[in-house]
Amino acid sequence: MEERTPTIVRAKSIVSQAETAPEPEALAITGETITATGSVSELRDRFPAAEVLDFGDSNIIPGLNDAHIHLALTAGDALHLDLSHEAVANVPTLLDTIAAEVSATSAWVWVKGSRYDDEKTGIVLRDELDRIAPETPVLVNHVAGHWGVVNSAGLRFLGIEESSPDPDGGRYDRYSDGRLNGKLIERALMNVVMPATARGERFIPGDTVEDLQLGAARTIAKWNAAGLTSICDALISPQDIGILSAVRAGDALGLRIGMLLSIDHYDKAVDLGVGSGFGDDRLKLIGVKAFLDGAIGGRTCLLSEPFTDPNYQGVQTTSTEELRANVERVHADGNRIGVHANGDAAIRLVLDAFEDVARRIPRPGLRHRIEHCSLIDDDVLERMKRLGAIAVPFAGYPGYHGGALNSWYGEERMERMFAHRSFLDAGVTVAGSSDYPCGPYQPLFGLQSLITRTGVDDGVTVGASQKVSAAEALSIFTLGSAEASGEESYKGRLAPGYLADFTVLGENPLSIDPQGIADIDVRATYVGGDEVYSG
Ligand SMILES: [Zn+2]
Repeated sequence: MEERTPTIVRAKSIVSQAETAPEPEALAITGETITATGSVSELRDRFPAAEVLDFGDSNIIPGLNDAHIHLALTAGDALHLDLSHEAVANVPTLLDTIAAEVSATSAWVWVKGSRYDDEKTGIVLRDELDRIAPETPVLVNHVAGHWGVVNSAGLRFLGIEESSPDPDGGRYDRYSDGRLNGKLIERALMNVVMPATARGERFIPGDTVEDLQLGAARTIAKWNAAGLTSICDALISPQDIGILSAVRAGDALGLRIGMLLSIDHYDKAVDLGVGSGFGDDRLKLIGVKAFLDGAIGGRTCLLSEPFTDPNYQGVQTTSTEELRANVERVHADGNRIGVHANGDAAIRLVLDAFEDVARRIPRPGLRHRIEHCSLIDDDVLERMKRLGAIAVPFAGYPGYHGGALNSWYGEERMERMFAHRSFLDAGVTVAGSSDYPCGPYQPLFGLQSLITRTGVDDGVTVGASQKVSAAEALSIFTLGSAEASGEESYKGRLAPGYLADFTVLGENPLSIDPQGIADIDVRATYVGGDEVYSG
C-alpha cells in the first residue's frame, strides 16, 4: 500500500496544547489527521515529497469548539432579516431595515426578522411597524425566542382581534389603554408560527426543509469564519437530523457537529436502536437533552436564595419525578444526558438524580453533563468531581451582559456564577459554550470574556475571582469541549493522532492584551486538513 504524502504546515507560532514541550514549529498532516510535529527541517527530511503550507506571520491554535450552541434552532434566522443589536443599533435603523425589505416584497408575503433585542435596541411595537408596513404582514422575533411582535396587517392575517381571548400558555400583549400592541408571547406566538401546533386555520408560513438546509449551510459558513471547527447543537429534533444530514450530503458540512437529542424524541432513538456515539466524526449523536429550570437572562433560573430585586426564586420547568425518570432511563441505556440547570437549587436536584443512578445502575465511563451549571458552591463542585459530571457554562455572559449581571444576581453571587475558575481548580471538566442565540457565537469573544470577566459595552467586571488565564480559556474552548462530547482522545490538541482541525489567527491570543482577543482577525479555518474558511 502506497504511503500518502503529508502536507507540512508552519506559522509564526503554533499553540498545540500537546502534553510535551516545547511547542512545534510545524505540523505534518495526512488526510484528516496530524501525523507528526517538529521543526520544519525535521519534517522536510522525513517527508521530502511533502508540500509546505506556510502561514507566514499568522498564528495557529487548535480548532475552537462550542460545546453548547443552537444551529438547528437558528438555521431559519439566516434567511430572515438580521435585527440583532450588532446589525441594527437602534430603533430607526431597525425600522429602515424592515421598510427596505417591505418595499422589495409583494404584499401578503410575510416579512420576518430575527434576533431583535428590546433591551439593547429599544422598544418596537405594532404602531411603529404599522408606520413602515401598513399592508405587508411583519413579524419581528425576539432574540430569546419566547415572543415576537407583529403589525396590524399581521394581526389581521392571523385573525387576532381586540376581543380575542388569550390562548392557553400565552398572551396577546396590550398597550396601557388596553389595545393590542402586537406582542405575541409564548403560546400566542408558537401557535401561529409552527404548523404542527397551529390551532387556527391561519398561521405564519414556516420555513421549508429546503430553506432550513440553506440557512444551516449559511450559518455554518459564518461560524467557520469565526474560527469554529466543532460544535455541539444542544437541542435537536429528528427533523433537524434530516436537515443536517442533507447539508452534509451537499458537501456543506465544514463543521463537526455533535447533537443532543431532545428528551421529547428519545423514544424514536430507542426504537431505532441509536444512542450516544451514533454517527461519525462529522455528524454524531452525543446524547439527550432535558430541561429543569429557567434562564439567566430571563431571570427565571431556580435559586436557593431569591433574586436581588423581586422576592422570587425562579421556576422549575420539569417535576423532580420526571427528571429522575428521564435520567434513569437514559443512563440505564448507556446514553449521556445533558440537563439544563442554571440555578444552584436546580443543579442540586440534577446531582441527586445523577448520584442515585450511579449508585444503583453502574455505567463505568458514562459521564453526564449539566448544561449551563451557572451558580455553584463547594458542595456542588465536590459532588460533580466525584461523579465525573461535566459543566457546560456560559463563556460569553460576563462580556455580553457586563454590570447587568451584578444588578440581577448581586456582586457576591457573581463570584460563584459561570465559575470556570472554580471548576478548573476543583478538577471538574468544564467546556466552552456560547449558547447562541442567547449570547454571541464568536468563540474569540467567549475567550476574552473568560479571561477578563468584563462587559464590552460598560467595562464592568463581574465575578473577578472566576477569571482564568488565556491558556486555560483556550483549553476550555478546545479540550474541555472535546471532553464534553467524549472526543478528547482525538480532538482539541495539535499532536500526532489528533484531527487536523485548526484556526489561523492574526495574533496569538496567549500573548496579546486579553481586551483585544475578540477583535483578532480570523485568517483561515481548517477542518480535517481542509480549508473551510479563508479571510
Ligand atoms: Zn441552549
